Amino acid sequence: MFSGKTEELIRRLNRVEIANQSYLLFKPKSDTRFSHEKIVSHSGFSKNAIPIESSVEVIQHHSDEKIVAFDEVQFMDGQIVQVVQQLANKGVRVIVSGLEMDFKGRPFGPMPQLMAVAEYVTKVHAICKNCGNLAQFSHRNSTDQNLVVLGEKDKYEPLCRSCFNQINA
Ligand SMILES: [Zn+2]
Repeated sequence: MFSGKTEELIRRLNRVEIANQSYLLFKPKSDTRFSHEKIVSHSGFSKNAIPIESSVEVIQHHSDEKIVAFDEVQFMDGQIVQVVQQLANKGVRVIVSGLEMDFKGRPFGPMPQLMAVAEYVTKVHAICKNCGNLAQFSHRNSTDQNLVVLGEKDKYEPLCRSCFNQINA
């Protein structure tokens, strides 16, 4: 949540732009935190993105772009795994950004499958709010059990494994 995933995605897309390569960037329609047609990092950088409801829409949008990117892919349906494989098999470079665990520390949506089929996986970490160690868990401050509560600073805090386990014990 505060690990800089979107930041890293934007950094990679900036390099794609410098190289004059065309790309498509998608985001789930449910993610409306900052803007419907943009991804925005916590430090305020942004890129235009196509909001989609279902992963099959990706194929409809794609023509000859060499790079296809996704933000918040954990919210996409399971079909996304086939869609990205189909693109990668055609020689498209697919860049996917997503949260690997939900607020209960469980693997999130299609993330395990995507990480399994990816050539490269980069894990970026936040800093634990409690102790300052590297954090990979997103603890929810509220008691809302709904899986999709869009993240803002008052709703989630990054925690390391040990602090996450203490709070959830
Ligand atoms: Zn900690």
